[in-house]
Amino acid sequence: MFKLVLASNNKGKLKEINELLTTLNNTNVGLLSLADYPDLPETIEDGDTFTENAVKKAREAAIYTGLPALADDSGLAVAYLNSQPGVYSARFAGDAKDDVANNQKLLAMLQGVAWEQRTARFHCVIAICTPAGEFCTSEGTCAGYILEQPRGEGGFGYDPLFYVPEYDQTFAELDMIAKNKISHRGQALKGMVAILAEMIRKVSGKR
Ligand code: IMP
Repeated sequence: MFKLVLASNNKGKLKEINELLTTLNNTNVGLLSLADYPDLPETIEDGDTFTENAVKKAREAAIYTGLPALADDSGLAVAYLNSQPGVYSARFAGDAKDDVANNQKLLAMLQGVAWEQRTARFHCVIAICTPAGEFCTSEGTCAGYILEQPRGEGGFGYDPLFYVPEYDQTFAELDMIAKNKISHRGQALKGMVAILAEMIRKVSGKR
């Protein structure tokens, strides 16, 4: 069996990766998570880019577990704010990782800014790393606008402020299937399918 560790405790992410493995049509893949390795030290996300952080998380998990590991890093880049909050998205308003406070801070920084200048982009990088240190990454982005007030009840993080013109809805108003189809994470996961398939082929010796 090809074993893979997802370097995340996030149940939603585990579910998404499991679905990805189904699309690979490979039932011989065992997916483990950080819940299986409770003593793995938390990675310090001090990179300047999403890629650096995702690779660091995947590398540390791969070395600790001795298995290939998958990790992601994501965030929001607002053009008017020179791509802030970027890699600091989770802690934009402080270490508490408070979504409401993050959204309030973003709205305050964009107060009075015209609609055309409120463009933003979500980014996600997914990295896979082997215990030997080889790695590959896949990136996805999704473009939208930052509203002047929150709309919608679903999702998490900046979802209620992130408006997608194609759907005339915010990420918090879109249903999960629609969000996954267009989201930065959905796009990055799609790219990871080919990378994983190749890795599984190599390990299982199939050509
Ligand atoms: P991480 O990838 O779990 O480290 O997420 C970083 C932060 O970026 C989150 O805490 C959110 O604030 C923000 N973020 C990333 N992806 C999304 C999304 O799909 N919707 C809303 N916020 C997001």
